[in-house]
Amino acid sequence: PALRPDTNDPSESDIESMLRPQRMEDFIGQEKIKKNLRVFMTAALQRGETLDHVLLSGPPGLGKTTLAHIVANEMGARIRTTSGPVLEKPADVAGVLTNLEEGDVLFIDEIHRLSSVVEEYLYSAMEDYRIDIVIDSGPNARTVQISLPPFTMVGATTRKGLLTSPLRARFGIDFRYDYYTADLLQAITKRSARILDVPITDDGAFEIARRSRGTPRVSNRLLRRTRDFAEVEGDGEITKTIADHALNALDVDEAGLDDMDTRILLTLIDNFDGGPTGLKNLAVSVGEESGTIEEVYEPYLIQEAFMERTPRGRVALKRAYKHFDRNRPSESGD
Ligand code: ATP
Repeated sequence: PALRPDTNDPSESDIESMLRPQRMEDFIGQEKIKKNLRVFMTAALQRGETLDHVLLSGPPGLGKTTLAHIVANEMGARIRTTSGPVLEKPADVAGVLTNLEEGDVLFIDEIHRLSSVVEEYLYSAMEDYRIDIVIDSGPNARTVQISLPPFTMVGATTRKGLLTSPLRARFGIDFRYDYYTADLLQAITKRSARILDVPITDDGAFEIARRSRGTPRVSNRLLRRTRDFAEVEGDGEITKTIADHALNALDVDEAGLDDMDTRILLTLIDNFDGGPTGLKNLAVSVGEESGTIEEVYEPYLIQEAFMERTPRGRVALKRAYKHFDRNRPSESGD
């Protein structure tokens, strides 16, 4: 079937949905998105219309799926979930679309991975709520046009750059996520701890938050692992000391950097003398697509002042040298 569960591991996905905010007021941060979305939803409800199609873009784990569910809840609508790679053929899309009811939210995750035939097939559905269906085959094959009930498509992507402009243009609402600050992640961690019934101190929550790479999914995961340490090695309460000990034992970087972040920065420093170097060179050296580096990894590293984009290429900044205990070329004499 073209509908899929949210993740493959049932226990992980159970906990994830437990921790997932259901209403707008429980969704922490992303103030600009929330403020605008509230206006658009209220206006649509007042006019008795469905909400315009919504595109959500940004790195993984920042709350795109969560917001799609919230939109459905706030609009009093059902949500149907699918993803780009699952919709292989126009027939898969037709199957999903013809099962929609008026007002439904159709959530398509990884929408940048739709094939171009499927994508083109979606255009008329999004624009006029109509699709063509081929019935019968061989010489009897013919196309019939059927109308769909008005619905709201919510598309999510980590790689907005891969979206074609005709598809992008069909989303009336277009939001880009920001990474969460440590303060916001602290609030998210405390909320999750409350739901999981884990005692946690403010500085314990902050320690988890600041090492979560600006990402709620990461802070929720670190919270659960830290809880294990608190229960086995402490009295169950997550304090700063316990959190620090647990995160070190788990090899979680002091600044929350993951393996690819580390590889990017060390490659810049060690192989390219800190730069400037072009994105393509860097991508080849670390073995990742340049678009993914640009849209998924760099935004965090730039925001956190580990590196910068200059007209001549990527450059490692002081914080990166300090973090990895490397001498900056300009400082070698002092
Ligand atoms: P992906 O694209 O990788 O699926 P995503 O952006 O859709 O990621 P979600 O699955 O929505 O991310 O969020 C991951 C988890 O983080 C959720 O279970 C939710 O509990 C938590 N979360 C995300 N955003 C928020 C938020 N603003 N406030 C509270 N919790 C959040």
